[in-house]
Formats: sequence, C-alpha cells, structure tokens
Amino acid sequence: MDNKKNSTISRGHFLRSAGLITAGFLLTPKDIFAQTSPVITIKSAAATTPITVQALRGDVHVLQGSGGNISVFNGKDGKLMVDAGIAVSKDKIKAAMAKIGSEPLKYLISTHWHFDHCDGNEWVHNEGATIIGHEKTRANLMKTIRVVDWDYTFRPMPTGALPSVVFKDERSLDFNGEKIHMKYYPPAHTDCDISVYFPHADILHVADTWWNPYYPFIDHNSGGSLDGMIDACDRNLKMTTARTIIVPGHGAVGDSSQLGEFRDMLVAVRHNVSKLKKEGRSLADTIKAKPTAVFDHKWGEYVLDGAFFTKLVYADV
Ligand SMILES: [Zn+2]
Repeated sequence: MDNKKNSTISRGHFLRSAGLITAGFLLTPKDIFAQTSPVITIKSAAATTPITVQALRGDVHVLQGSGGNISVFNGKDGKLMVDAGIAVSKDKIKAAMAKIGSEPLKYLISTHWHFDHCDGNEWVHNEGATIIGHEKTRANLMKTIRVVDWDYTFRPMPTGALPSVVFKDERSLDFNGEKIHMKYYPPAHTDCDISVYFPHADILHVADTWWNPYYPFIDHNSGGSLDGMIDACDRNLKMTTARTIIVPGHGAVGDSSQLGEFRDMLVAVRHNVSKLKKEGRSLADTIKAKPTAVFDHKWGEYVLDGAFFTKLVYADV
C-alpha cells in the first residue's frame, strides 16, 4: 500500500469514528470529506444532537450528546461539572442542568485539553463557574496546537476558558458534603489527563483513559501512549471496587469488570502488534495481518476501527 493511499484510508477511518462518537450518529465518509475538518463537522453535529441525562448515584448525573461525557454533581452548595462538551450545546446543556436542579453552577473540572471536552469552557466560566484542571491542561489550552489527524489547528483559548485553579499531582475540593478528589495520571491519552472521584457516591470519572466499549484514540502529539493507557487502566482498577460506578470519556457508564476487559484488550492488541513489528513487518503489512481481528466486532464496530487502532499501537511498540 503506498503512503498516500494508506494515510487517506486511515484518515477516513478516524474521521468516521470521531464524528460518530461525539455526534451520536453515523456520518458517512462522503459527509465527512465534504467538510474541511472533522472538528467543524463535530461542532455542527453537536448543534443538532439532543442531550441525554442519566442519574447515577448521590446526585451525580451524566450528560451525553456534546463531545465527551459530562458529569454533573448537584447539591446545596451548587453544581459542579466534569468537562464542558462542545460550546454550541450551551442552551441544551443549561436546560438539562436546570431539570436536575435550580442550584447555581459553581465549578468546572476539565479532565484534559481536547476540544470535545473543553470547547464549552468559556460559557461555563461566564455562568460563574471556577475552572479547575491540571497545570498542563492550562498550558495546552494557551498554545497553538496542530492536530494532523483532525486537519485542524487549535488556537489559544480565551483567558476565561482556562483553568484558573491548577495542580500538579492531586487536589481535593469540599463541595456538597463530598471531598472530591482529582488525581493526575502520568501521560496516557494525553500529557494532562486527570481522574475525578466522588467518595460518598463511589463514582470515578476516568475521562479518556477509558472508552466504553471502543478502541481509544491515543494523542501522540500530546504525549499519549499505549503503555500510558494500560498504566492508567491499572491505576483506575486500583481505585475502584465492584460497587464503583465508572464514567468513561466516551460511551456508556460502566463498572470495574468492563474496565478490566478494556485493559485486557489493550494488552492483547499490544502483544499481537508488537510481535508483527518485531518480525520486521511494515505498518501496511501489519494492518493487513489484522492483529485486532478477534476484537473488532466488540471494540471496532462503531468508533476507531481495527486498522486505525493498529496504526496507533504500531507507533507505540
Ligand atoms: Zn480526549
């Protein structure tokens, strides 16, 4: 396979997937290539996608339909969001949160810098929320970053969209009777991922260190790696029990046994791809050998397909 063809196919696979995860419906390759960038496609798709609300436990809810999953914690002190989704969903997200309760929005925790989690930061800040995040999330949001796979250059975000409270390793916040605990992962999906834990409710929001049940995107441009993702899964499993409700960055809310399956899939694909690469096979030949074949039905049907995921893993082994 020549390079040009290979990159075109890979790009198509990723774009189809990216549109599907964030928009909640299938965009055909034709729809996608009619746009200049999937970022624009994803943003316009969010404009027409309804927001769904799922109540979890202890007044923690999950909103879906605007980029990555958004957790909303409500109580007497007000509301706290984990991630803000796409900006164009503002009115629908506000309406969904008003149904949860009339308490004011006080805090937003950003799990990492990606646009499908931070695009709405500015409006959330303008509603009065203080934004908390990892120091590298703030630094990444202040930079111009070119993401080649998305054919898009992200410009620095306005000051109001940046976390004004930052931390390096971990931080706690007393709010609504919970001691909410934020913890940094060493580089995994990006270089600035954090988890957010609600101890009373026993809910862990692990963001893009888990996609359920999808092959995950690994952002090599931002310091992400497969081994970092596997390490993040091990850390997540250590922080949880069978009772813990786990919120992934994309896909259905789940539990530790489902998270364990995701971790085992990552390890198995790593083994298969690494074996082929060590035999001296090129990326194209490795993709042709279908090292993800037994996993594609479960993990590659709706989001990144096996070929694209193989490409990501090949770069990391
Ligand atoms: Zn992400």
